[in-house]
Amino acid sequence: MDRCPQCRGKLRSTICGRCGADLSLVLNIETQAKTLAQHAVQNLLDGNYDKAKHLASQAKALHAAPFHQALEGFIKSRKDMADRDEPGW
Ligand SMILES: [Zn+2]
Repeated sequence: MDRCPQCRGKLRSTICGRCGADLSLVLNIETQAKTLAQHAVQNLLDGNYDKAKHLASQAKALHAAPFHQALEGFIKSRKDMADRDEPGW
């Protein structure tokens, strides 16, 4: 997040310099979502599709960023292909 969701001011720390909103909790959740997405990608690469899908779903639930939505969809399609025994990458 580079802009305050309250006033749209540019963020330089966890406290908005324009309106004073404390965004530390929101930024912490964003970081957790990013970490979950990274673990999802690693599990995908390791072929653990169920775990990858679960982690990607959690990441999206915490932060519905376009990347997290796309990651969940991609993992789901890879899992479906693996379930059908189609050749992977
Ligand atoms: Zn603000």
